[in-house]
Amino acid sequence: MRLAVVDARATLLTDAGPVDVERESEGRFPSDVTRLYEKWAAFREWARGYPSAPSTAPLPASAFLGPVSPRPAQILAVGLNYVDHAAESGFGVPEAPIVFTKFASSIAGPFDQLALSGDSVDWEVEMVAVIGIGGRAISAADALDHVAGFTVGQDYSDREVQFLGAPAQFSLGKSFPGFAPLGPVLVSPEDMPAPEKTVLECMVDGEVMQSAPLSDLIFPVPDLIARLSAVVTLTPGDLIFTGTPPGVGFGMSPRRYLRRGEVVRASITGIGAIEQVCA
Ligand code: ZN
Repeated sequence: MRLAVVDARATLLTDAGPVDVERESEGRFPSDVTRLYEKWAAFREWARGYPSAPSTAPLPASAFLGPVSPRPAQILAVGLNYVDHAAESGFGVPEAPIVFTKFASSIAGPFDQLALSGDSVDWEVEMVAVIGIGGRAISAADALDHVAGFTVGQDYSDREVQFLGAPAQFSLGKSFPGFAPLGPVLVSPEDMPAPEKTVLECMVDGEVMQSAPLSDLIFPVPDLIARLSAVVTLTPGDLIFTGTPPGVGFGMSPRRYLRRGEVVRASITGIGAIEQVCA
């Protein structure tokens, strides 16, 4: 299944074109995607009657696309989940996921402008899991059944704010408005390519900064969901930012941060690309 939020309405992208969920279901399912996640099990069954558009099909106009989960109750984000990113950040390989949050007011549409908060704003392409069916103490074996789908996210980070004081605290520096763009679509687990064929890439002004397969994750998605839900009760629409591969500006020598006018493009195989112009 490929789902987009078009003009604030949940829209299935089918092989016969976009289908408005609320109208097509005659009101059985809501147009508000946040409420749709609460009916995910029934919706997923209903949506099986509409074969997915191929990942190469053109998207609705970018100006109308919104974040695929605009008001999650919770955002869990994982730091240092790729070996070489942990190394470039000056840390060893973690024995357990390093978890922080991005506050929900940082969520933005896939093509919204990025207002730079200062001179040390950095990119971090990440695959983001959206929870469909909530729960606690979910096993790794059952984890993907709880995932509505995956989308492309950026975990934009103001490094100066992030590393203000010791120990560093991540959440504030990653929560300025627009620091969590999501999109362009949600792709259900069964429609995703295998992890080794799912490549995350981030480009700044056309230069490839990050490129790595999802199979490089230290804690793969099912394992993450098992570990996180051992503590937290996950609820429909919740987001899990799964970590960024190496190649962030903070890890470069000299450090390289975003400047006004630069264009940041993040993409993941099988999902698509999101793009921000820095303002
Ligand atoms: Zn991150």
